[in-house]
This record gives sequence, C-alpha cells and structure tokens, in this order.
Amino acid sequence: TSISELITAKMTTTPDFPEPGILFRDLTAVMADGPTLRAVTDALLDEIPADVDAVVGVEARGFLFAAAAAVVRGIGVFPVRKQGKLPGDVLAETYDLEYGTATIELQPNALAAGSRVYVLDDVLATGGTMAAAIRLLERAGYIVAGVGVAIELTALNGRATLSGYPINALLTID
Ligand code: 5GP
Repeated sequence: TSISELITAKMTTTPDFPEPGILFRDLTAVMADGPTLRAVTDALLDEIPADVDAVVGVEARGFLFAAAAAVVRGIGVFPVRKQGKLPGDVLAETYDLEYGTATIELQPNALAAGSRVYVLDDVLATGGTMAAAIRLLERAGYIVAGVGVAIELTALNGRATLSGYPINALLTID
C-alpha cells in the first residue's frame, strides 16, 4: 500500500469547518493509528536531508509530525507558534489570510545561526503560513533545507508561494 493510499484511507473531510465554505482535511485518525503514524513519519523523513540539525513544527498539527520525525532521526525539534504563545524575545511575521491577517512567532537562538532546519506541517493550503515560517527561520539565521507536509491542497497554489524550496507532499488533493 502506498503512503498516499494509507493517508486517504484514514483522513476525514469536514465541510464548513472552521468557516462556511472550507472543506477541512483532518489527519487525526492518521496519527492515532500507530503503524500509519510511523509510515507517515518515515515517508516525511525520506526527504529530510541527512545534514539537517533540527525539524521545525508549525502550530498545531505540525508539532506532532515534527516531534515524531525528530525522535526517529535523533535530531532536535522546535516550534513556530501563533502570536502570544512563546515567552521572551520573539521574531514575528504577519501574513494575509482570506479575511484579515495572522501572526506567527519564533524564539531565535534556540540553535546556532547557520544551522540547517526542515519545516513540517500537516496541510499545505495557500502556503501563506509556511512562507511566513520560512521568513522567520531565515531571519533567525537558519538555512531552510525544505518543507514537508502530509497533504498538499494543489488548487490553492501553495507550491508557487514557496518556489525555490524543496517540498515533499505525501498526498496531493485538487
Ligand atoms: P495556509 O493557507 O497558510 O497554507 O494554511 C494555513 C494553516 O492552516 C496551515 O497551518 C495549514 O496546515 C492549516 N490548514 C489549512 N487548510 C487546512 C485543512 O483543510 N486541514 C487542516 N488540518 N489544516 C489546514
């Protein structure tokens, strides 16, 4: 069974969540099943270069994939979080949503400048969140080696927003 088939079999889709008109892809059951979680983690790790120093998880589901991948590889993990969640001095990036804006934050200096990092999230939609995460990481002095997601929603064109960065998507949905 391919990884895309494993994800498709366990993924659920909820219409009108969190807002009317949004078709929300939910990976809860994918991660709740041990062998599937391990298979997804391994498939993400397949594209994470050997010289990466740490994995970055994007709030909130990205934390789960990132922690799993980091432990299996034996490297570190740290979060990019929504505004107001991280203590101390933080870097912030604000980006546009369909309605309004969002801000995400990073604690710099968790790793030495020049460290190589790889960013994980559950779903790539417009790519706005991932692009802002990459800006934060580069402002902190890190080298972003690539991006991995379980699902890429191709109609939203996030890949164009992230041009120049290798993207590993385990399942693409139109
Ligand atoms: P963006 O449009 O910036 O790529 O997506 C915004 C954030 O919402 C990302 O963290 C992305 O993972 C999440 N997101 C967008 N659409 C979905 C979805 O259908 N399901 C889930 N689980 N997350 C989503």
